[in-house]
Amino acid sequence: MREKLNEILKSSKEEMVSGKSLQELEQIRIKYLGKKGELTQVLRGMGKLSKEERPVIGKLANEVREEIEEALKEKVTTIEENEKLARIEKETIDVTMPGKVNKIGHRHPLTLVLDEIKSIFIGMGFKIAEGPEVETVYHNFDALNAPKDHPSRDLSDTFYINEEILLRTQTSPVQVRVMKNSKPPIRIISPGRCYRSDEIDATHSPMFHQVEGLVIGKDISLADLKGTLDVFAKRLFGTSTKTKFRPHYFPFTEPSAEMDVSCFKCGGSGCRMCKGSGWIEILGCGMVHPNVLEECGIDPEVYSGFAFGMGLDRITMLKLEIDDIRLFFENDMRFIEQF
Ligand SMILES: [Zn+2]
Repeated sequence: MREKLNEILKSSKEEMVSGKSLQELEQIRIKYLGKKGELTQVLRGMGKLSKEERPVIGKLANEVREEIEEALKEKVTTIEENEKLARIEKETIDVTMPGKVNKIGHRHPLTLVLDEIKSIFIGMGFKIAEGPEVETVYHNFDALNAPKDHPSRDLSDTFYINEEILLRTQTSPVQVRVMKNSKPPIRIISPGRCYRSDEIDATHSPMFHQVEGLVIGKDISLADLKGTLDVFAKRLFGTSTKTKFRPHYFPFTEPSAEMDVSCFKCGGSGCRMCKGSGWIEILGCGMVHPNVLEECGIDPEVYSGFAFGMGLDRITMLKLEIDDIRLFFENDMRFIEQF
């Protein structure tokens, strides 16, 4: 039995030397010290020993167990130490490597121009109003005095979700919502994304952006409209900018007009940008139609107002001399970072 114990000690130590991983060491521990392990088997046979031998062998068995445990512990520590070193080795940072450049975003040209437009109107006491892009047909057309047979209501021009819901074709429904939910005086601009069923080309896109404005109060006249938009044009395009109003038709305003600004490229003498005319059309405007006021719960006998709307994409293209609307939506940083 003494021999058997010495043998266990010897062979377990030999196995430990070749053990390379923590799993292998655990296997060795189970093999010798586990419930069915070799040392345990020996101890079970102690009952057969004589009274004198029992304590001697018992002592020896304990010493063997302790020695194996000690050796295992030592080996485990060594392996853990080695694994740690290997990990550190692998993770070593080469401080001579070039660093990664953090890419910081750049404001989109549409955002740049919109921020400028917003700040001009905020400076004149306007507030920003926003509304849903998925709108009801009522808010987009009916409340704005657009009759059922109006061409813009056509299925081929507008994205309908169903008979009553569509993707807004303008931000005017925001004006309707503001008029219905607040009392005059009202002074807002409503910027936002709009949709129409257009083939995409250099100047058309099924998704585009509008900035509309609305002023309602007592004694608001066409002179207020002209004065406000003239200040706006001078702030956006330069103090020498002149404005001109041409009669036009919109169902939601009466009278209605289109506003041209003197060409900010050639100063009015005629160039490629203004197609030789010296003028560039930038927005539509007019006095809010009494039917619209009434529909939105505002008494047209007491209040009057004006409204205007411009294409943000077109104004940005003019101002930054961009000749293709598609560039706005391609998200090419080489383009965006130019502005
Ligand atoms: Zn010009």
